[in-house]
Amino acid sequence: MDLSLMNKEQKKAIQSTEGPLLIMAGAGSGKTRVLTHRVAYLLEDRDVPARNILAITFTNKAAREMRERVSALITEGTQDMWISTFHSMCVRILRSNINHLGYENSFSILDPTDQKSVVKDILKRRNLDPKQHNPRNIIGFISDKKNQLIRPEQSIAEAAAYPDTLYSEMYHDYQQILYRNSALDFDDLIMLTIELFDKEPKVLEYYQNRFQYIHVDEYQDTNHAQYRLITQLAAKYRNICVVGDSDQSIYKFRGADIANILNFEDDYPEAVVIKLEQNYRSSKNILDAANAVIENNTERKPKALRTARDGGPKLQNIVADSERGEAEEVVGNILDLAKKYSHSEMAILYRTNAQSRAMEDTFVKSNIPYKMVGGIKFYDRKEIKDLMSYLKVVLNPNDDISFERIINTPKRGIGPKTVDKLKAHGQATGISIFEGIKESDFIGIPKTAVVKLMGLVDLLEKLAQKSKFITITELVDEVLESTGYIEVLESEKTIEARSRIENLDEFKTVTREFDRDNEISDELLFAFLSDMALVSDQDGIEDDSGVTMMTMHASKGLEFKVVFIVGLEEGIFPSRRVIYDDKELEEERRLMYVALTRAEDHLFLSRANSRMIFGKTESNMQSRFLSEIPEELVEGGGAFAQDDFSSTGSAPKKRTPKRSRVVTNNSGVSFAIGDKVSHKKFGDGIISAIKGEGDSQELDIIFTKVGVKRLLANFAPIEKK
Ligand code: ATP
Ligand code: MG
Repeated sequence: MDLSLMNKEQKKAIQSTEGPLLIMAGAGSGKTRVLTHRVAYLLEDRDVPARNILAITFTNKAAREMRERVSALITEGTQDMWISTFHSMCVRILRSNINHLGYENSFSILDPTDQKSVVKDILKRRNLDPKQHNPRNIIGFISDKKNQLIRPEQSIAEAAAYPDTLYSEMYHDYQQILYRNSALDFDDLIMLTIELFDKEPKVLEYYQNRFQYIHVDEYQDTNHAQYRLITQLAAKYRNICVVGDSDQSIYKFRGADIANILNFEDDYPEAVVIKLEQNYRSSKNILDAANAVIENNTERKPKALRTARDGGPKLQNIVADSERGEAEEVVGNILDLAKKYSHSEMAILYRTNAQSRAMEDTFVKSNIPYKMVGGIKFYDRKEIKDLMSYLKVVLNPNDDISFERIINTPKRGIGPKTVDKLKAHGQATGISIFEGIKESDFIGIPKTAVVKLMGLVDLLEKLAQKSKFITITELVDEVLESTGYIEVLESEKTIEARSRIENLDEFKTVTREFDRDNEISDELLFAFLSDMALVSDQDGIEDDSGVTMMTMHASKGLEFKVVFIVGLEEGIFPSRRVIYDDKELEEERRLMYVALTRAEDHLFLSRANSRMIFGKTESNMQSRFLSEIPEELVEGGGAFAQDDFSSTGSAPKKRTPKRSRVVTNNSGVSFAIGDKVSHKKFGDGIISAIKGEGDSQELDIIFTKVGVKRLLANFAPIEKK
């Protein structure tokens, strides 16, 4: 294995293969790269069989990338090696063993919408008002408990006061419902794996022997449950290598506990500790800015991080009037930089997904390709959820949560009363709706409904049979046809129905891709559904082109030539919730550090003097994080006055916005992107793009009534409004 490109410390990390190893180092110092090489080194130079290696990454995308990189470094295959996230690792372990805990091995995985409907059901049963008891808070409570490995019984015993007392009871209900459905939420995947290992030492031993070399990337963001799981697995061989950066711990709200990495040397006194101090990612100006910002955190160990790269361009400050102006400035800069960089080398980072809308609108109008990561609501759309529910029921007919979704979708004359009876019967006897239907003759359900229900059961059983012999795409077609789902949509003939059909078609791009990589077997549907369930923050619909838009949280571990950090305003970032809480502010500052250190060459920092967000217009002072960046590293938009966020100060200088492209038609009228126009036939609209050259110039216009039309600029019967 050629390690000549690695520095001395990196080499040492790669070659220290036996015993516990902690690599604690700043952003861009090659931690992930070292992990990848270490895995390859174990395979190539130490002849460790691939099946004895486990590598845990933070996202599925990172797992895929690591597998590709390892494959490129070695000659043998990597199929037997587990490179996965915590969650997908647990799915695999539970798939073969969860029967020890009384669940079906074909368990379902709940998504947040399913969780919400379970909680709403519980509220209803307890006669509680969802307006008073926000399901989100209850789900958050349950998730916190699970991350700390607290079971419902213990939670009830420990709850001292309202609302914990009530929420603990609800946690108990919730867990029972999930158990009856053989359904697991995300946190269960980890908690139940630990429970399985505690209960079945033989199963644990099997995996300990299997994973003799364990690696965990981004260790600073593990929570207590993940920590326990790793401790269990590593207990026998103690070959555990963790890498992380305590300055990049940003998932406290999901239970991440920085103590896991800080206490590693106490857990493993024999641990080798390696520091990497050379940053290979960012230019000097960018790194200096990041270091200056993070130094404001008091609860941290100082750390050296230097770069061999030269200064590079200064950081660019952008101050816009509004969120639209901000988006236009970003687009203008992207158009400039597109000569030098491809779109996929650029990213826009924001604090919350809500900020993406203005950005997206402007991108659409400017015709710049982009992809949105996370916050994708595609899988939340009704038709996609319906289809997924069918697939889940085909795999696990006892999944009542999904069954209830499809029992009368499309409408087949099964009314809510019938459903209620089936549910009540299920609660009384402990059987699922699906099983209950087979007894529906006897529980006071009208004959006509019984016939329809039996028809549905029959249909689902046939689909379950078939599912073992066909691809997922074929199964999806079968479901959509045999249930009449598509037929109903087609007969509706509305725009909405048409777009639902299009979304279902789009879903088939996902299934086709899956089918290409996976062979037909009776494991196929389970594998597909768990893949879908584990789509994470960084897994947009896979697409390698276009500018990336994502939250700063989702950007962890990634790097881009050009980065825009937008919305640098007090109240947006740092977020309003944390401004008065020092601990939370430090977490927010770490997030800024993560965002800054994603950039390799160009870094833009932008804010708007006023913005419309969450339906309100706000004027915010510039973010304190901007004031923490030394002035000499920055240019444009006025300097960052140190006192700017305590007094509004003088208004920073504005950059003149880039001129949009303008076209003049035969009658001498000019049009620009964003102009409002009116068309003789189509009515009112707004120009969204200008295409082509000379006489063949075309305008894309979004009309209120008829949608987008492309018209020839010279001849279109339009007038400016
Ligand atoms: P983060 O903390 O953001 O996750 P990291 O420490 O994991 O960062 P990597 O992503 O592994 O850092 O590396 C950052 C960049 O530096 C990558 O492009 C990587 O290929 C490059 N790099 C790392 N080590 C070297 C080296 N020895 N020589 C050349 N390039 C390197
Ligand atoms: Mg990394």
